[in-house]
Amino acid sequence: MGDARRPVGFRSFWVERARRAAERRRRVYGLVEPQALRRILDGPGRLPGFLTSLWLPLYVLVGSPRQLARLLWWTLTDRDTPARRRRIERLASELGKRLGPGCRILVDYLERRIYSRDVARVPRALEKTLHRTTPLLVVQPSSEKDVQAVLAFAALERLPVYPRGISSSPFGGAVPTTNGIAIDLSAMLEILEIDADRRLARVRPGARWADLASRLERVGLGPRTTPTSRFSTVGGWASTGGLGLGGFSGGHLSEAIAAARVALPTGEILSLAQGDDRLADFIGTEGQLGIFTELTLRVRELAKIDAPHLLYVDGVAEAFELVERLDRDGHGPMHVAYYDRERLAEEDLTLADRTGRDLRVFEDRDAILVVFDDAQAQARFLVSELGAGSRANGTAAHVLWSERYFPLKAQRLGPSLLASEVVMARRQVPRFVRRARRLARRFGTMLAIEVLVCRTTGADREPCVVMATFRCSSVHRWDYLLRLVLVQLLTRLAVRLGGSPYGFGIWNSPFLGRSAPRRRRMVRRKLEYDPLVILNPAKALGTRMRLGLSRVLFFGPVFRLGLFVLWALSPVLGSLARIIQPPRAPRWRVPDPAEEGGFRLVSETSVRCTFCGSCISTCPAYRLTRDELVTGRAKLRLAEAVIRGEELSAREAASPFQCLQCGLCEEVCQTRLPLRQTYAVIERWLADRHGYPKETVAAFVDLAQKHRARFMDAFGLLQPEWPGGEETK
Ligand SMILES: Cc1cc2nc3c(=O)[nH]c(=O)nc-3n(C[C@H](O)[C@H](O)[C@H](O)COP(=O)(O)OP(=O)(O)OC[C@H]3O[C@@H](n4cnc5c(N)ncnc54)[C@H](O)[C@@H]3O)c2cc1C
Ligand code: SF4
Ligand code: SF4
Repeated sequence: MGDARRPVGFRSFWVERARRAAERRRRVYGLVEPQALRRILDGPGRLPGFLTSLWLPLYVLVGSPRQLARLLWWTLTDRDTPARRRRIERLASELGKRLGPGCRILVDYLERRIYSRDVARVPRALEKTLHRTTPLLVVQPSSEKDVQAVLAFAALERLPVYPRGISSSPFGGAVPTTNGIAIDLSAMLEILEIDADRRLARVRPGARWADLASRLERVGLGPRTTPTSRFSTVGGWASTGGLGLGGFSGGHLSEAIAAARVALPTGEILSLAQGDDRLADFIGTEGQLGIFTELTLRVRELAKIDAPHLLYVDGVAEAFELVERLDRDGHGPMHVAYYDRERLAEEDLTLADRTGRDLRVFEDRDAILVVFDDAQAQARFLVSELGAGSRANGTAAHVLWSERYFPLKAQRLGPSLLASEVVMARRQVPRFVRRARRLARRFGTMLAIEVLVCRTTGADREPCVVMATFRCSSVHRWDYLLRLVLVQLLTRLAVRLGGSPYGFGIWNSPFLGRSAPRRRRMVRRKLEYDPLVILNPAKALGTRMRLGLSRVLFFGPVFRLGLFVLWALSPVLGSLARIIQPPRAPRWRVPDPAEEGGFRLVSETSVRCTFCGSCISTCPAYRLTRDELVTGRAKLRLAEAVIRGEELSAREAASPFQCLQCGLCEEVCQTRLPLRQTYAVIERWLADRHGYPKETVAAFVDLAQKHRARFMDAFGLLQPEWPGGEETK
């Protein structure tokens, strides 16, 4: 601005200061000069004198109302303010100096946002009000030393650290609560050693169950038990549930963990073997005490057969009497599960949706699925009275068993699916199921119930995992919120019957009663291993760093009172839910990519994504780049951001183009989404806005060529020996 435009007279003192304040705010916060100020600076006398003399000092002291509102909005919505951006850059540069060459630090806003959620779709208003879920940094370590370095750095900066596998659990265990550092262990996916003689497998924490199973199969071995989320990580499952497929004979995962290495927030590495009391502290405590950096699992001989049988029953009581008989008569199946008629009807619906034909494979009754991995046990079962009843149901049994890895597929019919997942003693299941159905009817909802029946050597010898799912619409905000109430009421019901939520994470943390002996013991351990409370804080074991409102709402007595009020109001809330319930279509018609410029295809596909992460683990482009942005799940999140009109960084806009169009992601997708068609639309949108990223694609093609042999091998086969971090960086 030239001297000629300098104002004269009494205002010059404040004008000069306002000019400096505007420059400082532009530099520090990236905020543009307000128009009123520009008018004053551009020429004297355009605003009345008295207004100018009021406005200028106010602006110098606090800024313009618009600027203030904008900063406040950014802060409230957990966005990067310019001050936060500078902090991120400083933290990334200082942390980068302490990490090994294969380690990646992610700083772009939308990319970090992908790490701010898990399978649960929490309404944004609720998420933003209660927590600050966007991590400041995401670190993908490539070695145990990197994990140690991140923990040491976090302790120095007093930053919370959130361990994460592929975030396929639904309770918020891997979700940040107060920004901090998300440590993505899913890139440490190597299987280190298979000792066939001693039947042991040593893996890094990010190893996928599917990779491990396929690698073991080659030497005639198999895991004792696996989650149905077969693309989740070994470290993630060891830190959460642990009850899964084969749990009737294989027991709880903890029984299969022979040894582990754990990084503590104090910087220490613990090397623990079975028999060491401390090993149990880290299993199932959701990454709040330490980070698994290596696990050794006891494995078993590969099953000779894989033979499912289906027994129809009249109701849940009869089903569980039958389970008792199976146990008593010593039939020895490896897997037992109960499905109610709604759950089986859902199987028929999804089958019809996939084949386009109106198939009815299942009878309109409840059923028990019994799977044998031993020919003699199966033969004994087939000649028994129980087994005779299953002979006519061979096709249905095989359909159910072959679909075991897709428990969330009904979300395709959706548009959304909600689930309550609880664990309880076997004898309590029939009571729970009956009461849960009554409660759900108040909300006009039919539950689809599946119960995994297990046997363990732990204190609770006969735990059952009860999963009650129901369809709803996350697009219809009120429908979704009212049905979220039902989820919490179902968990409350289970707790009142002596059960507990299957995981605690953020949302179920108040259910772990403050005075419960297990919690007291774990809190003592937490303070011993993590005195600064930096590891996964503000969850079931620690309230530090939690923001005010959530601290109040999640305080045990307040939470319980809130649930009681919701339960008392449930007839009213239920009626409301029934009134506003949007119609549910029996099938999803995939929109034409040309319709509304692809908008409908992208938005309807992304709302049906369960966030299960299976498409990450199988994607060859991810295995090469270790970059989640190249995978289906992240591309859909980026597309949502484009629809909201958010700005993408150059890296975020270029990464989705690194794709081989191989379709492996569609093969494993929980909801069998039309991913490649959707990618084509997303790529078109990105190319229109940001240009085609020639260099990124050329570099990716070079990388793919370099590892061509391994690529070819991977089609159809899951290939665990993919290039390590150091090779590909
Ligand atoms: C389709 C589907 C099917 C499922 N089936 C089952 C099932 O059969 N049985 C079952 O129990 N669960 C099941 N789940 C839930 C979930 O998949 C499992 O709990 C899963 O194994 C979690 O692994 P993850 O890699 O996704 O971990 P994440 O969800 O990323 O993390 C889970 C918790 O572990 C912590 N964590 C992650 N890695 C580490 C580490 N290395 N060290 C310390 N803490 C860590 C995180 O902080 C978080 O608290 C299913 C989920 C889906 C979507
Ligand atoms: S098509 Fe293949 S390369 Fe592309 S995202 Fe899917 S799995 Fe990855
Ligand atoms: S795109 Fe499919 S496989 Fe990928 S996270 Fe979504 S539902 Fe899972």
